[in-house]
Amino acid sequence: MTKLHVVTHAQHAESASSDLRSQVHFCAQTGQIWLHEHRMLLIHAQAQALLRKELIDTLGMDRARGLLTRMGYESGVRDAELARTRAQCLSDLEAFMTGPQLHTLEGIVKVTQIRLELDRAAGTFYGEFLWENSWEGQWHRHFFGTHHEPVCWTQIGYACGYTSAFMGRPILYKEVECAGMGTDHCRIIGKPMQEWQDASEYAHFFNRESIAEQLIELQTQVVELRTSIGDKEGLPTNMVGDAPAFRAAYELLRQAINTQITVLLLGETGVGKEVFARTLHERGARAKSMFVAINCAAIPPDLVESELFGVEKGAYTGAQVARAGRFERADGGTLFLDEIGDLPLAAQAKLLRVLQEGEIERLGGQTVRKVNVRLIVATNVDLRVLVKEGRFRSDLYYRLNAYQIVIPPLRERQEDISPLAKRFLEKYSAIHGKRLKGFTDKAKRALLTYAWPGNIRELQNMIERGVILAPSGTRIEVHHIFSACEEREADEFGLDVHGAINARSVQTGQALCEAVCSGEMTLEQVETMLLESAVDKARGNLSSAARMLGVTRPQLAYRLRRLQEDSAGHEEVGFAPPLAPAGKV
Ligand SMILES: [Zn+2]
Repeated sequence: MTKLHVVTHAQHAESASSDLRSQVHFCAQTGQIWLHEHRMLLIHAQAQALLRKELIDTLGMDRARGLLTRMGYESGVRDAELARTRAQCLSDLEAFMTGPQLHTLEGIVKVTQIRLELDRAAGTFYGEFLWENSWEGQWHRHFFGTHHEPVCWTQIGYACGYTSAFMGRPILYKEVECAGMGTDHCRIIGKPMQEWQDASEYAHFFNRESIAEQLIELQTQVVELRTSIGDKEGLPTNMVGDAPAFRAAYELLRQAINTQITVLLLGETGVGKEVFARTLHERGARAKSMFVAINCAAIPPDLVESELFGVEKGAYTGAQVARAGRFERADGGTLFLDEIGDLPLAAQAKLLRVLQEGEIERLGGQTVRKVNVRLIVATNVDLRVLVKEGRFRSDLYYRLNAYQIVIPPLRERQEDISPLAKRFLEKYSAIHGKRLKGFTDKAKRALLTYAWPGNIRELQNMIERGVILAPSGTRIEVHHIFSACEEREADEFGLDVHGAINARSVQTGQALCEAVCSGEMTLEQVETMLLESAVDKARGNLSSAARMLGVTRPQLAYRLRRLQEDSAGHEEVGFAPPLAPAGKV
């Protein structure tokens, strides 16, 4: 009886599927293929598999899975429309089998029913099917090897979409076996959504996440970040540092934040004086008002006063309209005067008056205006020298000098170079849309041994250059940061990756040891040779010579000076010319 039933069932399935095949029409005249009312495509399985692979490669497994599941879901929903039209003349069970038959007919997977119970009116459903020749499982294994999870995402999406549309309620399928995991077939089980305990974990595969919206949102964030960091030293992103000298300076700055005291920032060019000034402004109570910065050295002396204090109409030839100066513009906020040592004496007198009285007068004006401005000044020269020379008012100097912060040069912050370089790498990678893996070991070493006469600004500029020059996906190399000839010289000096000594330099080293041990050369002569040949190779550029030798510029300068003093003091001994071969000494 059972056997008879199976035969009948198989025959019936055969006739049902030939009935479906008759619904497929190839229309050569119009270039269309129809399945019932739906236009279909005959696509190369491999091309489709490549698209699937690219989705995974570019969007990641999880996103690709979501997209493919939803794509399958939509196919299933379309096919359910055909099934529902057949439901009028077939039983629910027979009509339901339209989906599995179409899935087979469409060449996706051969579906065999294992167990199927459904009642559309009551909303109950249980379906278990065997999948053979799964298109998706085979290609996934082909490209990615055996997977630890089921991979037939489009197909499972189809089953969910088809059954949900057919039943009129959400039905979730899972693959309990999958060819992508190494078996020779897949097996799926479908039940109403709420009967799965972990249904919520699957829900997100069916919800469209707008990748475009996420991209636009990210784009907006990038633009915001770019604007905030685009300004060369705008944000305290470069306020990174653990070096004691830097921590001390930062601590002084921190304590001044909630006061109104005038701050004098001292330090070499490029140490970040403007960043300190901005930080002081942005962390303090004046943050919502203007931060006005002006470089006194950049303004022609005869225009400094009108720039700072404003000008009334007709005050001088060319003053055709009245104009507010920087002090007025900074009212309520902060005014940062860089290179204060370059301020002409007349302007110094007026500046002193603002500091004492909080008042300004525009050029050519009679009205006294009250201004409430916090003043921060900076210089890289010794103001005491200018005072002695009569170029800077002593009363102004003492007024400004009440709270001074000395910002250390980068070469005194050796431990900060790496973290700063890393921050700048991140910053400029974002700005230039580059993905870089960091620095090569050789580049790291060069960064540490360079003396950085231009300080943080120079480091920043050179890292930006490196980010621009290094190809995406690689590491920044020495020659991306430093110039090509410096890099070549560094190479000749045996400055290998990890600082390893190569075979050639070992030989050379042994020859030198021989020469010293046998008394042919003195240790001092070796050092002299080394230093002078480095300076020679660097064409006199001490910073670059120091980098070759792996010492700082001051260290090199010190040694050279000592050698010069020694040779001056021992003229009678004399020593070999810098590049004389060892044997002839
Ligand atoms: Zn599978």
